[in-house]
Amino acid sequence: MKITLNPHAVPTAEREEKVANCGFGKYYTDHMVVCEWTEAGGWEEPELKPYGPITLDPATAVFHYGQEIFEGMKAYRQPDGGIALFRPEANARRFARSAQRLALPEMPEELFLETVHALVKQDAGWTPGKVGEALYIRPFMIATEVGLGVRPTNKATYLLIATPAGAYFDPSKAVSVWISTEYVRAAQGGTGEAKCGGNYAASLVAQKAAAKEGCDQVVWIDAKERKWIEEMGGMNLYFVKGKGADATVITPKLTGTLLPGITRDSILSVAKDLGYKTEEVMLSIDDWREGVTSGDISEIFACGTAAVVSPVGQAKSAMGTWVTGDGQPGPITMQIRNHLLAIQHGTTEDKHGWVQKVAL
Ligand SMILES: *Cc1c(COP(=O)(O)O)cnc(C)c1O
Repeated sequence: MKITLNPHAVPTAEREEKVANCGFGKYYTDHMVVCEWTEAGGWEEPELKPYGPITLDPATAVFHYGQEIFEGMKAYRQPDGGIALFRPEANARRFARSAQRLALPEMPEELFLETVHALVKQDAGWTPGKVGEALYIRPFMIATEVGLGVRPTNKATYLLIATPAGAYFDPSKAVSVWISTEYVRAAQGGTGEAKCGGNYAASLVAQKAAAKEGCDQVVWIDAKERKWIEEMGGMNLYFVKGKGADATVITPKLTGTLLPGITRDSILSVAKDLGYKTEEVMLSIDDWREGVTSGDISEIFACGTAAVVSPVGQAKSAMGTWVTGDGQPGPITMQIRNHLLAIQHGTTEDKHGWVQKVAL
């Protein structure tokens, strides 16, 4: 890896002040990684260099046809002051699968991981330390062939940036959701399983509709039968059936249109480790309404790398409004969240080998 250090890196005191009040995506670290690919030459040697603007020809493919993919992952402070990544190989594999779907070049897993380790090591000082805080890492790839012809690109640029992220979890406030029966996020054969910017571009109008209904987030249902629950915004969903030690923790099955979240996958294991039954199911809007009305569904939460776990309270749809439990985060939601965070922060046993230390 070529390394060009930033001569104007943010001074320590200012950086610490920023990290202490980081919010999400407000500040970016001193460096980024760039790696170019061409059809003729393959992947070039990556370069770690000062964070800054990139220059592209206005006719660059990504601006016109949206050939882009990304990942989202985190580096967490450990009790010994070190830093660890959570299941980064899973992000590397998913990035390669997304690349394949968007006709972009697959980046070898080792190269992807090498760039992530290099940036986290270099900008380690930007990692906040409290539980739930982390350095959020955003790898992405864009089609950089110049020209307005519609074809798979013969040039691509991979970039890696990082931003300190606070714990934006407010336990006093469950998320309200609008179940969209008008717009869909993904259809069979489409790009729903790929992490691509285009999925998000197409989702924003529904997010706006949700806001108009007074809701925080949109819940997606399937495109064909328009009844099966898929995801919430950019997060996967979980439902707790029953209460206490006998509860079953369920999540919508991966049908080919859901994004296979790494947090979703981790929670299937964590819930089992905590003694709960787990199931991947087809769950309809009616099941949701009847479940929360009868009390059979006692808790609902969404999960993803950015927020880890967010409790879901009120759900609103064209069919009416209904509330889960007492509208407060439930005990199993909190238990799963705390356990997952403890693994990520190295304060409980990592029995699945998910945590990967970064050599500082
Ligand atoms: C990224 C993403 C998720 C969550 O995936 P994680 O790997 O858990 O962060 C869920 N749904 C969508 C649509 C996403 O883009």
